[in-house]
Amino acid sequence: MRLSTRFSLLSIVTVALSGCVMCGALLLQEYKTRQVLWQAEIETALTTNSAWARTIHFRDESSVQRDLAQFAKQLSVNSTAAAYHVDGELIASVPTSEQPPRPARMSSERVDVISQFKQPAAEQESFSRARLVVSVPILSPINPIDYSLTPQNYRDALFAASSTGPRFVVGYIEVATSRQEFLNVMADTAVFTVLLVVAGLVIVLFLVRVLSRSIGKPLEHMAEVAHRISIGELPQNTRLPVKRNDEIGEIANVLNGVLEGVHKLKARIDVDRALLSIKVDSASKKLSAAEEQVSQAQRQIKRVAYYDAVTGLPNRRLMLEQLGMLIQIAAREKRYIGVILIDSEGLRRINETRGREVGDTVLRELAERIKTTLRDSDVISREESAGDSRDLARVGNDEFCVLLHGLEKPDAANLVSQRLYYALTDPIKVDGRQMRLDVHIGVALAPNHGKEPNALMRAADVAMSVARRDNAQKPVFYEKALDVEGSERFELSVDLQNADFDREMTLLYQPQIDTATGDIIGAEALIRWNHPTKGMIPPFKFIPLAEESGHIIALGNWVLRRACIDIAMLRDKGIQLPKVSINVSALQLTQAFLESVSDTLSHLDLDPGCLELELTESLLVQNFNTVMEQLTYLHDTLGVRLSIDDFGTGYSSLAYLSRFPLDELKVDRSFVLGMEQSDNFAKITAAIIAMARQLKLDIVVEGVDSPQQYRTIREYGASVIQGYLFSRPLPLEDLETFIAEKTYLNTIAELDI
Ligand code: C2E
Ligand code: MG
Ligand code: MG
Repeated sequence: MRLSTRFSLLSIVTVALSGCVMCGALLLQEYKTRQVLWQAEIETALTTNSAWARTIHFRDESSVQRDLAQFAKQLSVNSTAAAYHVDGELIASVPTSEQPPRPARMSSERVDVISQFKQPAAEQESFSRARLVVSVPILSPINPIDYSLTPQNYRDALFAASSTGPRFVVGYIEVATSRQEFLNVMADTAVFTVLLVVAGLVIVLFLVRVLSRSIGKPLEHMAEVAHRISIGELPQNTRLPVKRNDEIGEIANVLNGVLEGVHKLKARIDVDRALLSIKVDSASKKLSAAEEQVSQAQRQIKRVAYYDAVTGLPNRRLMLEQLGMLIQIAAREKRYIGVILIDSEGLRRINETRGREVGDTVLRELAERIKTTLRDSDVISREESAGDSRDLARVGNDEFCVLLHGLEKPDAANLVSQRLYYALTDPIKVDGRQMRLDVHIGVALAPNHGKEPNALMRAADVAMSVARRDNAQKPVFYEKALDVEGSERFELSVDLQNADFDREMTLLYQPQIDTATGDIIGAEALIRWNHPTKGMIPPFKFIPLAEESGHIIALGNWVLRRACIDIAMLRDKGIQLPKVSINVSALQLTQAFLESVSDTLSHLDLDPGCLELELTESLLVQNFNTVMEQLTYLHDTLGVRLSIDDFGTGYSSLAYLSRFPLDELKVDRSFVLGMEQSDNFAKITAAIIAMARQLKLDIVVEGVDSPQQYRTIREYGASVIQGYLFSRPLPLEDLETFIAEKTYLNTIAELDI
């Protein structure tokens, strides 16, 4: 409810109540005044008539009756009147029809006027019926009980009585009326009073209304302004009008002050908000930039995590995840999945010899070839409806993996892998030169060889390892037997880690004979592992394992120490063996190894020239400067002999050969074998020998086990032979005998015939 309405209502109620109260008070006042008037009228009327004392004294009923009637007429209020003698006798009453008022008191006491309302019990029932009685004693100087007086001599007695003498109550005039009579008399006055009060009420209400409007309006306006402030809808520069000098004006002034403050505050808040929104804007721009960077980084991380940087192909991780899904789909559709694992050994060598960049180019070329082959093989590998379901990943440094899925028959994997093999072994142009890469392919099938990604990959890996080990010129399919082999390799690797070298390892020595002079110019130390349960294990089975696990370092040190001890022993026995060569894996050639060589030689007080290190070609093409430094130290500082083993199987780089401080070159057994089958091999062998002679390198030809080979080699100008033709690798004691007996001389003599 609005304040003005409330104010008006309150005013109406207040004015109405006060009107009623005022009306009541006025009417009560009027009522009392009427009573007083009535009493005064009675008194006046009675005192102005002196005949009362006489007529009552003599109980003159007719005179009293007449005077009472006259007296009653003079009264403004309709009244009954009765005259009593002091002894209580009723003399007369008017009107006669009504019950006369009974005497109020009967006493001989002298009183002036006794006015009182007597309300008999019966008449107290209601206000309207209540009677008002006035008892007026009539006084006389004549004693009412003086019965000797007659009406005639009464006047004389009256004169005779002193005016200052005692006065006696002769009788009473009792006047009575009812309240109703008063009210009847007051009716007009009451109506007038009520009308007056109502008029006053209306005027007051009008004034209240005017007042409430004059106060309520500005208050309502202020309230509205306050409300709009509270809901933030305040229009710019709102001000309350100040037209008055009263309290409302003062409040408006105060509120205008507040409004001004609010406006200023609002202006400041607006500025702050604008600044904040600028800041928020720039912050959100920065945030979006940061988000973009983060998502870029995430994309990059995803790329790094899931894709190969060089070829852009999925990596092993992504491939394994895809494979998991593909296996499930294939199981549902009852189809096969082929996993083709491709390893290119040549790639590793290219990286080592030509640098990473060339290696990466070759890698991309290989990836491209694989993709092309797979595209061409689509029809045979899967149903046409299978859509684009080729999957190629780079899963290792030089390993690719191809997933063939949706295959109806296992044969499809066979065909695709064959094609891949031919495509990848096709000569590749590297740095303007054609070369053929060694490629090994292993194939496994799901669900036949594994029902989950890792098992399937492992199966393909086993098959590929076998292809690599056997240098298979075709893809190798996984078989259970291969897996057994794989497990054996694993077991062997574990056994090697736990092997007690002194007890389980042995060095055999294969003599190197200069067939031109008949001298033993040296012997190559070849390791054998006498496994506690598996018996004698040849080096090709465990040296690669030792290289993979890093055990080759410890093993190499053992070989170095063992060979040196054996040399020292032969020397101490006075047995003539100019040198012993040991095989040094590329991984072994570290600073620690160099120190080890130096320490062992000095510890055993050996002539460094007795020790020869056989290094592989691949070592020379690694880190040129470091290798050069190491070899120079070994050769020039320590005085150890250096030999290049298996020459011809690697890069056969003449440039390298000429730059390193080498003493000897060993022609690999594969050339010796190949000579008999191919003219090309024979020519290459002849060229290698000729070249080595040009470079002033000693030449040792390995693996000569037939007279024919021997003769050809001799023809080519090489005379130092290491081969079964003269001796297999021998235990140290047998070597001693071999050196002592020189039985090989007979063989040479026979061959030379
Ligand atoms: P390699 O250094 O080229 O050793 C020559 C291999 O040819 C030896 O095989 C030797 O027994 C074999 N051989 C020599 N003449 C003939 C022959 O007329 N006919 C046949 N069929 N074979 C012949 P082995 O002892 O099995 O060694 C194989 C390879 O193992 C070695 O090739 C060498 O690379 C590695 N190896 C052997 N011992 C060690 C070693 O102590 N440390 C390292 N790092 N590698 C070693
Ligand atoms: Mg060797
Ligand atoms: Mg060799």
